[in-house]
Amino acid sequence: QAVLGVLGGGQLGRMFVHAAQRMGYFTAVLDPDPDSPAGRVSHHHIEADYLDPGALDRLAGLCDAVTTEFENVPAAALADLAARLPVAPGADAVAIAQDRAREKAHFVACGVPCAPYAEIETIEALAALVAPPSAAHEGAGGGAGLFPGILKTSRLGYDGKGQARVATPAELAAAWERLGRVPCVLEKMLPLAGECSVIVARGADGALVHLPPQRNLHRDGILAATEVFEQNMPPALMEQAVVAAKSIANGLRYVGVLCVEFFMLEDGALVVNEMAPRPHNSGHYSIDACDVSQFELQVRAMAGLPLTQPRQHSPAVMLNLLGDLWFAQGGGAPATPPWDQVLALPGAHLHLYGKRDAKRGRKMGHLTLTAATQAQARATALRAAALLGVAPF
Ligand code: ATP
Ligand code: MG
Ligand code: MG
Repeated sequence: QAVLGVLGGGQLGRMFVHAAQRMGYFTAVLDPDPDSPAGRVSHHHIEADYLDPGALDRLAGLCDAVTTEFENVPAAALADLAARLPVAPGADAVAIAQDRAREKAHFVACGVPCAPYAEIETIEALAALVAPPSAAHEGAGGGAGLFPGILKTSRLGYDGKGQARVATPAELAAAWERLGRVPCVLEKMLPLAGECSVIVARGADGALVHLPPQRNLHRDGILAATEVFEQNMPPALMEQAVVAAKSIANGLRYVGVLCVEFFMLEDGALVVNEMAPRPHNSGHYSIDACDVSQFELQVRAMAGLPLTQPRQHSPAVMLNLLGDLWFAQGGGAPATPPWDQVLALPGAHLHLYGKRDAKRGRKMGHLTLTAATQAQARATALRAAALLGVAPF
């Protein structure tokens, strides 16, 4: 019986395990948390740190191939495993995706525009950005065009954590201080008309397929809702996003599932924001609305199975279920949201990740609403949002 392994035991690992098991695989999850969402549903659960050599040995001994659901898994662990068995995505691609500065350099190398930015690694680099432009120092004050901007830590940021808005150069030093003086990128704030993302899957043979681009709505830096209709964006923009995502994957000689996030600007331009070397929250709708989900694509890519172009069979809206909902009913103690009412809506698909403690801002699950038409999916999603006390999207 073939065994597929995954580094990381969160909800992405759990949905990967579900897809792998459905296709007849056994699974192994490596995660230090004995109660992790994926570990609890997997055949094998190795409770250990990602860099524990003994644990990596055990995983390699058990598995036929390994993937990751955790983008910050040390690249060294992937490289170590890759010496012994197929690993997708590879350590090099993950190392680039883990670092905003390297990631942006890769986008530029692939000819895909991103927001104007500068790397800040040292106090000197910071000073150069803050200095007013002067004729004597050509190039000094080169950061003048980056304000107002967002300072982002190069590593380990997610859900808007590790970011600070900087309106003027005068605020930069304090913002860098607050983020811990770690390597950062300063990015120009762009006027967004909207955001979208594209999920692609690439096989070891170079075969490339994609899910339809999805429109994303963020609230407080966290994905709140994803809408996927056949015509939810101008067709030329959708095509441009797919071509850009594919060239980014090809440039990495990527194997596995990759999500590329984009900004749609007010002037109609498309710029890339960031990428994730794994299935992505914005692709969860594919479980219920496509004939092949992003997690099945992950299984297929790592197992060397054929990748076929997924087809979206239903318009869909996905709502993230954050821990806040458990506190929405008033009172201090967390209370279960009214699932019975939500599940009475036609086309409601509830996914809960099995996390024991609801906390504000914590992703506890998601709800996908599918329907025959775009208008119906939207109407049902708005109904669900009202029942749950989630702000409409
Ligand atoms: P994720 O959880 O998606 O990994 P993250 O913490 O890596 O999030 P980003 O995707 O960089 O954060 O930014 C979060 C959100 O902040 C974006 O989706 C967008 O709404 C807003 N944002 C980020 N950068 C910019 C920018 N340069 N201009 C305008 N808005 C921005
Ligand atoms: Mg990110
Ligand atoms: Mg993001």
